[in-house]
Amino acid sequence: TLSALPVIPLDEAYALTAAYNADSHPEKVLLGAGVYRDENLKPWVLPSVKKVRKSEILHETVVDHEYLPIAGAPGFLKLAQQLIFGPILDDTSRSHAITSVQSISGTGANHLAALFLGHYLRPAHVFISNPTWMNHHVIWELAAPSVVRKTYPYYNPATRSMDLDAFLAELETSAVANDVVILHACAHNPTGFDPTHEQWDKIAEVIRRKGLFPIFDTAYQGFASGDLDEDAWAIRHFYKTLFEEPTTSPSPGMIVCQSFSKNFGLYGERVGALHLALPPGSSLAGAESQFARLIRGEVSTCPRFGCRVVETVLSDPALREIWQADLKTMAARIRAVRQALRSELVKLGTKGDWSHIETQIGMFSYTGLSEAQVKRLNEVHHVYMMASGRISLAGLNEKNVGYVARAIHEVVEN
Ligand code: PMP
Repeated sequence: TLSALPVIPLDEAYALTAAYNADSHPEKVLLGAGVYRDENLKPWVLPSVKKVRKSEILHETVVDHEYLPIAGAPGFLKLAQQLIFGPILDDTSRSHAITSVQSISGTGANHLAALFLGHYLRPAHVFISNPTWMNHHVIWELAAPSVVRKTYPYYNPATRSMDLDAFLAELETSAVANDVVILHACAHNPTGFDPTHEQWDKIAEVIRRKGLFPIFDTAYQGFASGDLDEDAWAIRHFYKTLFEEPTTSPSPGMIVCQSFSKNFGLYGERVGALHLALPPGSSLAGAESQFARLIRGEVSTCPRFGCRVVETVLSDPALREIWQADLKTMAARIRAVRQALRSELVKLGTKGDWSHIETQIGMFSYTGLSEAQVKRLNEVHHVYMMASGRISLAGLNEKNVGYVARAIHEVVEN
């Protein structure tokens, strides 16, 4: 019966926030959820977004509260697509087959991708990074239960670095044509280690040769490096490798799941898009009609407010410039706290090499702290972080970084 359902644990990031809120210790620190905080550790409404909210532009476009089309707001989707594919779309000598639909942010895009591919590509396996954003597993389990979930090795704890050889070897031995491979476009969550351009090229080569279907999950474009094009490099490189180089085994396609939560600070507004790319010249009509059916059956249409904000910023050169400065502000603050944490640990002489804290990219650092150390950090020092040792750097500032470093020092030396 429903009353006998087992109680399962709350998602770890949400559970950490709840435990932190209930803690009355004056020096408590929250390094859990992946949400940006300003230097006072407060939510940050991006100045570009603030400007749109105050301006007449937005109010003039909010003339009514009608539904969006099922596929989403056409103006928003065009700009979202442009942000991902950039100069590829300018090459009009090719008949690109790319279609875009709106989604309930990045999570909704991942869900729609699993639903669509589970129904119509029917891969034997989906390969998920080990470790990854844990929702990838939940989403595929719920939306495409017939697809066998496999993990690919990505991170080597012994060397605290990426393990590209093991990753490629896993695809070589276990993946079969049409299998789906989920990739983090930039700022890998949770490790903060991204492949170099050369490494991306090797991954693209295996995926193309074996006829696999990549999904790029992109939740940090512009936030990772501060540069929108650099953070989309891997996606554009894959597009060219899969579809533009001569090949005897054409790739079945690729999907990009795009979130605007972090790079616009619009977390709760749920703004996102899914982009499907098929080999140039392919017909998209069937896929588009199936997406419309899936979206209709799930959410009917997406919310309007957030995508209106994004569309307004991206279509106005002056606002876009402010937004790009906002991205640089966020990326620079994260880099500064990385540096501060590392230098505090070095100053304390804490055992071990902490250089990875600075070389990792994006919102998170995979610290390498053990589960027992994380537990002690929490119980003794009131520092809240994931059991895996992942910290969100947005929870650090000038005032608390010394405290956190001393706490880490104590648990490492103990
Ligand atoms: N993918 C990854 C890798 C993420 O880190 C996140 C945000 N934590 C998302 C997708 C999606 O978040 P949202 O649904 O808010 O866009």
